[in-house]
Amino acid sequence: MIPRTMRAARLDANLSVDVVEMDVPSIGSGEILVRTRACGICTGDIMGWYMRRKAPLVFGHEPAGEVAAVAPDVVAFRPGDRVFVHHHAPCMTCRLCARGEYVQCVAWRNGKLVPGGMAEYFAVPAGQVRADTLRLPEHVTFADAALVEPLACTVKSLRRAALRGGERVVVIGLGIMGQLHVILARHVGAAQVIGLDRVPFRLDRARELGAHAALHVDERDPVEAVGELTGGDMADAVIVGPGSIEAMELGVRLAGRGATVVFFTAGRPDDHLAIAPYDLYFREIRVVPSYSCGPNDTREALDLIDHGVIRRPQLVTHEFPLDQVADAYRTAAMASALKTIVTFGA
Ligand SMILES: [Zn+2]
Ligand SMILES: [Zn+2]
Repeated sequence: MIPRTMRAARLDANLSVDVVEMDVPSIGSGEILVRTRACGICTGDIMGWYMRRKAPLVFGHEPAGEVAAVAPDVVAFRPGDRVFVHHHAPCMTCRLCARGEYVQCVAWRNGKLVPGGMAEYFAVPAGQVRADTLRLPEHVTFADAALVEPLACTVKSLRRAALRGGERVVVIGLGIMGQLHVILARHVGAAQVIGLDRVPFRLDRARELGAHAALHVDERDPVEAVGELTGGDMADAVIVGPGSIEAMELGVRLAGRGATVVFFTAGRPDDHLAIAPYDLYFREIRVVPSYSCGPNDTREALDLIDHGVIRRPQLVTHEFPLDQVADAYRTAAMASALKTIVTFGA
């Protein structure tokens, strides 16, 4: 029985979170209604300048749940199906989709969950039902599935970093996204993975998860340290986690000949980065942004989770019920948190 009203977590412009009561969304042609069971808090959700522009809103875009209702014309899903839902999906028919540039597709950019993932129920627009709603394999829990979207962003990032195995990889920033990069870089056969951060717990966790070295950037000059660890060659791939100019500049300095530097997080709209083209040119360094992920990446991520490549206990450091979502939001911003997820009663 679907109730008429539900609880949802609303984020306002001063970044405080409240649980509010609102109507359960109705669904139209091609749409489904999902009862949320778990939703992760994304690093982007706590990026102040980014969220202030969107507030007020029901935040959360890393949900998993159970299909509660489907429109009469939906045949792919039935009530009771356990699903991951991507909050964006491409049309799969336009010129950009044909090129695999899914996140640039107009339909992708217009994607949404109604009202958002951090609500007891959300409606999924028809395009997302078609292109990027995935049934969960039996052994994948709802909490595991809350990691599909962040892992999918990592899958895309490492593909754009052109990892084939044997490379030396540096990961700047060892929050949840950095840790996922460490695991996946090892999984695809990187010869050496070096993590950089300034939080001892995160450095330790990166070593546990397979980093060959994890360096505190205030204790050691990272350029010198990476030079030493790579026998002077520097990195073949650098993942720049933070969206700061400082981190991007460091990323370029850590790149060796023929390397790829991935900018994984958006800079602010008015930021400018100075790069010496002479250096980029003769050392043939590629600078490649990696924004979000597409339906190919979410499928690969779910498959990796199903095959146990990602172990949730090492990554999900905190879990809160919906009525403590304000604590969850504060916790997600702390250095001691990797992934924080919110769970919804059965
Ligand atoms: Zn996310
Ligand atoms: Zn398209």
